[in-house]
Amino acid sequence: MKQVNYKTIFNDIFLELKPIEKKGAPASYIPELCNVDPDKLGIHLSNVDGEHFYQGDSEERFSIQSISKVFSLALAIRVIGQKLWTRVGVEPSGSAFNSLVQLEHEEGIPRNPFINAGAIVVCDVLITYLQDPKQELLDFIRKVADNPALQYKQSVAESEMMTGDRNKALIYLMRDFGNIHNDVEQVLDLYFYLCSIEMNCRELARSFMFLATHGMDQSSGEMIVSPSQAKRINTVMQLCGFYDEAGEFSFKVGLPGKSGVGGGIVALHPGKYTVAVWSPRLNGKGNSYMGMKVLELLTTKTEDSIF
Ligand code: GLN
Repeated sequence: MKQVNYKTIFNDIFLELKPIEKKGAPASYIPELCNVDPDKLGIHLSNVDGEHFYQGDSEERFSIQSISKVFSLALAIRVIGQKLWTRVGVEPSGSAFNSLVQLEHEEGIPRNPFINAGAIVVCDVLITYLQDPKQELLDFIRKVADNPALQYKQSVAESEMMTGDRNKALIYLMRDFGNIHNDVEQVLDLYFYLCSIEMNCRELARSFMFLATHGMDQSSGEMIVSPSQAKRINTVMQLCGFYDEAGEFSFKVGLPGKSGVGGGIVALHPGKYTVAVWSPRLNGKGNSYMGMKVLELLTTKTEDSIF
């Protein structure tokens, strides 16, 4: 493998992006997400050999929001396998993460598990099949992160519960089409808690490592998902991880990844590394403005993407 000096590359990227560091704004539709310094910027890259490279605010925890939808998807696939795909699709949505329009046309079957509607259906599935869904989901995230201390953040979940009218509209529409099988309040509760998890860039990079190692946990050797399931999750990230900007991210970065409105982005290079970036200012599509640029420069400067 070509030897890359990530430390120098991160330095160069941070310097190069300095002039645009004030572009974009943090998400304000979830009030708790405004309580963050918008100028934070951190990156942590972990390779499959256990080496770590980082820069900036990489140790500070933030709300990972929709990045968690990769964990709920992985757990649902573990629990019900292929059957999941009768409830949710695998196509890019080409529309906003909280759009209602497509859902009406497609009769309550969300395009993919990473738009809000899709993740809500995944939560509904977990409630059907798990005994203690909230705890088992948290346990699963702790397992892939190799960190038993991770917690849901109640204030963020409650903040979203109070203001999440659009998510409520999505779930009622899907229930009308017969694609929600459990109590609406319970499903939304699991969804909002799922989105409330906090991690820092190092923890995020660790928790996505199983997807860079064909489904296997880096330290225990346990199979979290099968190689074929890891392939599918990575494919869905590649196609749908950035909502109506998934094409743009693929075009510029060339890695599978997932964003969240907390300003985090995780991307991975199967067989090589995982990388997490955090910068709370978002672009118009709800993805981290700087985060997208940092990753674009990373794969450009290293001349290494999956393509
Ligand atoms: N919790 C957020 C919501 O439901 C997640 C959105 C996101 O991170 N894109 O709107």
